[in-house]
Amino acid sequence: MIKVDEALKIILGAVKQLESENIPLIKSLGRVLSEDIHAGSDIPGFDNSAMDGYAVRFSDTVNASKVNPKTLEIICDIKAGDSPKASLKENQAARIMTGAIIPKGADSVIMVEDTLRIAGKEKIVQMFKEVKRGDNIRKKGEDIKKGELVIPAGKELNSAHIGILASLGMSMVNVYRRPRVAILATGDEVIDIDKELTPGKLRNSNTYTLYSQVLKCGAIPKNLGIAKDKPEELEKKIREGLDCDIIITSGGVSVGDYDLVKYILAKMGTNIKFWQVAMRPGKPLVFGVIKGKPVLGLPGNPVSSMISFEVFVRPAILNMMGRTHEERRDVDAVLEEDIVKKKGLRYYLRAHTRWKDGVYLTRTTGPQGSAILKSMAAANSIIIIPEEEEKIEKGIRVTVRFLD
Ligand code: AMP
Ligand code: MG
Repeated sequence: MIKVDEALKIILGAVKQLESENIPLIKSLGRVLSEDIHAGSDIPGFDNSAMDGYAVRFSDTVNASKVNPKTLEIICDIKAGDSPKASLKENQAARIMTGAIIPKGADSVIMVEDTLRIAGKEKIVQMFKEVKRGDNIRKKGEDIKKGELVIPAGKELNSAHIGILASLGMSMVNVYRRPRVAILATGDEVIDIDKELTPGKLRNSNTYTLYSQVLKCGAIPKNLGIAKDKPEELEKKIREGLDCDIIITSGGVSVGDYDLVKYILAKMGTNIKFWQVAMRPGKPLVFGVIKGKPVLGLPGNPVSSMISFEVFVRPAILNMMGRTHEERRDVDAVLEEDIVKKKGLRYYLRAHTRWKDGVYLTRTTGPQGSAILKSMAAANSIIIIPEEEEKIEKGIRVTVRFLD
């Protein structure tokens, strides 16, 4: 039996980053950049107006006020998208819209709200306010400078990143390939969810939770179905997963007479790296490398398989996808109940954590049996209790990991 941290280190050491692919920007949400992005141009590309108003020379507005307005001659109208030819001289103004190019000779923009037009006098405008040089002008390159490193490799693209790439004219981007993840349920008692339940059977929920967990990571699940606890069947199904980048199974890794997964994996030539991790839930877990592919035999109990996925499979998948940072949020929270545990195991407790009066408070969501999905469904977080603890009293601060 090895410790969680060591197990994770071994797994992450064995998984390789996948190659990258060139995909349309429109499909890149949540994908991980595989190259640094340097700006190919300035953004904005030209000095432009931040307001609807008048482009002026700031010196022409000196001392302008409500009681002492300055009158300027309007020489043209500039819409966004226009390429103005006019050049402003003293006591002249250009009507200008947000986003339009600042004409030559102008050095600031006065908001339309600070001006007045007089009916019948189309060619003049009155200014009520002084402006300073540069007021209401968005300078060329003020957001992004040409050549600047705007998004580093390893970033998971969000909507704002995608907006930047669009502004830079990058219709295609290089991102890491999404791993394909084979999912196999095992067990003589496990049946398809649309089959009728007969005595001793239970429906296959693990494939469904694991499938959705894989999707949530941004990877591509492949459902291998259910294998009975029979060597030939297990071997055949596992083989069907070898075209994927990572294989996960559930069940059959404990110490029962029919827990065959570990033996079959070994028989198939898997380099088994470890079996059993000092944690609860999730102790029975086997990890190895088969034909260069990582394979994780997760425990069969529904919550154990989910937690093992969260603790081991998810980081492995994210690493394969080039994600260089962990975005899960760990916080300190005050425990609202006593917790007694077995020394030597790291505990992951399904919990509800909330912010109240400046602190996080956390409590478990009910019975913690490894088959009880209801308390998992009610949890927004996991309390992580270190191996060495035996009893933690109400009021003590513990580490909590938010799930979503
Ligand atoms: P095992 O480690 O194979 O003995 O499985 C542990 C427990 O998990 C048993 O009670 C199984 O019935 C249950 N289990 C195994 N596989 C699944 C599955 N795919 N869906 C739901 N429960 C399962
Ligand atoms: Mg089983």
